[in-house]
Amino acid sequence: MINRILKKEIKIGNLFIGTNHPIAIQSMTNTPTKDVSLTVKQIGDLFKAGCNIVRVACLDIDDAKAIKDIKEQLLKQSIDIPIVADIHFDYRIAIEAINAGCDKVRINPGNIGDIDKIKMVVDKCIEHHIPIRIGVNTGSMDSEILAKYGRSAYGLVMSAKKHVDILESLGFYDIVLSMKASDVNMMIEAYTIASNMFNYPLHLGVTEAGTFLAGSVASSIGIGSLLYNGIGDTIRVSLTDDPVKEVIVAKEILGSLGLINKPKLISCPTCGRTKYDMMPIAKEIEEFLNSLGNVRITVAIMGCAVNGPGEAKDADIGIAGGVNEALLFKKGEVVRKIAQDDIVEELKKEILAMI
Ligand code: SF4
Repeated sequence: MINRILKKEIKIGNLFIGTNHPIAIQSMTNTPTKDVSLTVKQIGDLFKAGCNIVRVACLDIDDAKAIKDIKEQLLKQSIDIPIVADIHFDYRIAIEAINAGCDKVRINPGNIGDIDKIKMVVDKCIEHHIPIRIGVNTGSMDSEILAKYGRSAYGLVMSAKKHVDILESLGFYDIVLSMKASDVNMMIEAYTIASNMFNYPLHLGVTEAGTFLAGSVASSIGIGSLLYNGIGDTIRVSLTDDPVKEVIVAKEILGSLGLINKPKLISCPTCGRTKYDMMPIAKEIEEFLNSLGNVRITVAIMGCAVNGPGEAKDADIGIAGGVNEALLFKKGEVVRKIAQDDIVEELKKEILAMI
């Protein structure tokens, strides 16, 4: 049982994070934002995969302006997902993105420049009820903080605090924080300190986590450890891969910890006792389960009838292989035999009948 550490409630578009709202899955497009049709297509794919918040890079005024068209086109497709404008330094791009209807801005106020410019962005956010995410990471730490604390977990938190202090001095408290590191240990430590220090929701992530396998493992350990300790309100799995895969891995992390309802596939590693072609079946059933959305069902694909039903008795339904056939079992009790060629279709029918 995970006891979540409850943070301030923040509204992003039509989505709430913080307090005991569900942990939101984020991703980021890798299309040029000003290429509206490409960006809309990718956001649609992310949304269908289960993404709750999407971030777009705004490199210039045209990117920021494109948010208006992107939102309109998404609305036409009945896709309601908050859009976060990711901006470095330039306050004019932030203001343009807010005017274009973005739902959150990711910008570090300390990087904007003089206080008048920061105030212009803050006032615009207040006017439009837009939160700001302060996102620090080890690669962009404040130089003074870096000199004082080094590239460390505490340095990351103090870097975030410097930006928080600026916003709070301007009466702005609609804040989300992230302090990502590529070093998983440092990231866990930084978020743990931050959770004790701030009442703002935390957006978790391991930055520059790597390609699919390495990035998924690093993110699962980093994000998963924090979530297990009740820390975190939104998550992003950063992968050097198709962003849709980020969402799939994020859902696996949340599902593994029981933080979302999600179909679960358990399957044995196979061994010398396996006498049927099990792996393609496991892959096909996994894809089918992922298409079912937020349902709670555990399905087992096991290699042999000797140990399979017993080892997977906690599963709602499953199959255990014989010679070119499988036994169908429910809660560990064998129900009937299925011929190899019919296994996938029969199992899908049985699953649908159970949900
Ligand atoms: S369930 Fe059977 S086939 Fe699978 S690993 Fe166990 S003993 Fe081997």
